[in-house]
Amino acid sequence: MSEITEEQIVDFFEFLQGNLPDGMIMANRPKLPQRKAFKVIWYLQEHLSILPDKYEQCKHCGYLFNSNATGVFIDSECAKMPDGKKILNKYVGHYHDGCCPIDFRWI
Ligand SMILES: [Zn+2]
Repeated sequence: MSEITEEQIVDFFEFLQGNLPDGMIMANRPKLPQRKAFKVIWYLQEHLSILPDKYEQCKHCGYLFNSNATGVFIDSECAKMPDGKKILNKYVGHYHDGCCPIDFRWI
């Protein structure tokens, strides 16, 4: 079986939010908020190893992206605030390119 593509993951992410692919008709479709839809994907990645682990949700805009190809992960182990202080917890997370809300310094 070939690996699931980014397009398929995005389609599934949209499906969980109630946006059906073209041509699909379904009554009582799921309508999860974006953050909860990603929790389903996360479970399939991390707990069941069904989906590739490289897809992350941008903490700023909620967009799904391939973290092996783009984006940044910020945490207190790898980055500091511009003033040299510890990264605030509210900024810890994955961001796709152009979406990181702060300037930071790599440690
Ligand atoms: Zn983003």
